[in-house]
Amino acid sequence: MSKINYKSVEEIELIRESSLLVSKTLAEVAKVIRAGVKTITLNDLAETFIRDHGGVPAFLNYNGFPYSLCISLNDQVVHGFPGSYELKDGDIVSVDCGVVLNNFVGDSAYTFPIGEVDPGTLKLLQVTKECLNLGVEKAIVGMRVGDIAYAVQEHAEKNGYGVVKELVGHGVGYKLHEKPEVPNYGKRGSGAKLEEGMVIAIEPMINAGRAAVKFWSDGWTVSASDGKPSAHYEHTVAIKKGKPDILSTFKFVEEVLEQKK
Ligand code: MG
Ligand code: MG
Repeated sequence: MSKINYKSVEEIELIRESSLLVSKTLAEVAKVIRAGVKTITLNDLAETFIRDHGGVPAFLNYNGFPYSLCISLNDQVVHGFPGSYELKDGDIVSVDCGVVLNNFVGDSAYTFPIGEVDPGTLKLLQVTKECLNLGVEKAIVGMRVGDIAYAVQEHAEKNGYGVVKELVGHGVGYKLHEKPEVPNYGKRGSGAKLEEGMVIAIEPMINAGRAAVKFWSDGWTVSASDGKPSAHYEHTVAIKKGKPDILSTFKFVEEVLEQKK
């Protein structure tokens, strides 16, 4: 079992650059995402944008994953394949992006509503984003991984949602997936101690219905067993004293979405 990698201040700045390129890539996706667009189009524009900015898509060929983005529709939780599917009004779509830039990795995900989405599903998106924010608040020196996990789980379950257990957040920076695991469920005060120099990806995966998931025979796609919608938001966060240092940002995406209204 590998150990937790602690990053220097300089290394954290490099992970911030990678994470900001992820955030800007998600904003490029936000510009074109709408009903009628094929999900492979989003993948291809993201790959071009990342490479044009000196990066490499972190997911492409990772353990054999064949695309630059994970694009997960509706009841799909994570790790969906982009393809010929045309987005339609009422869909929700999780777009997960990772970038390697100067040998450092950033990772972030955003779930987009397409056109008119029913209010119940919009609430799922809102609550999942709140779960992320509540988890991020606990990502400071002196807390433990279980404090993040508990904050996410408590908020999701209070709203009647299912917390996906089979997939978790993770350390990130030198590689896409490092120690420690950062689950979205757990007990306060449990798990790895959060210390200066740790960089973690916090990524609640929250189901509108039951928590159970199924794994597809494509070897990647994970979906909600009951077929109900699932949402996913993710930030890369550096552990500091007093307040979390969020290295990725939704600012660029949300500016684009605001302009499209
Ligand atoms: Mg991700
Ligand atoms: Mg991740």
